[in-house]
Amino acid sequence: MRRVNCPHCAHRFEVSVKAISLRCPACTRHLRFEDVVIRHRLKGELATMGHVRLENPSEVIGRVVCGGFVNHGGRFEGSVTVFGDIELTPQSFTAGQLVAKSLHVRIGATVRAKATIVPRPQEPPKPATLPRIKRPVFRI
Ligand SMILES: [Zn+2]
Repeated sequence: MRRVNCPHCAHRFEVSVKAISLRCPACTRHLRFEDVVIRHRLKGELATMGHVRLENPSEVIGRVVCGGFVNHGGRFEGSVTVFGDIELTPQSFTAGQLVAKSLHVRIGATVRAKATIVPRPQEPPKPATLPRIKRPVFRI
């Protein structure tokens, strides 16, 4: 089992480490636990309790909530809330709002963002509605 926070309502609960998706017992919204690698352009909202990785080239504009976030040479603009670590590698571009438990910025990365690093990251208030990203992701 592992403890997770619902990215939608922040409810804390336990799930099996084998779970790929389920519904939050509090708000009943669908939660994903898969890791996601992005190698193209995305605009919208992406929520997974797994890890999200932007490859080079990739471009994401929107709102990401996830368990871990790596910008590995991609371009990100928007808000990202991470219940674990953010890592920004050389040649990556990251702009907007970052909320995470820790932040690693490597030499060569570009960051133009407001960062909030706290032991227990909370999702900031939801902005104007964005289209939910349904399909265009690649599983590891
Ligand atoms: Zn919930």
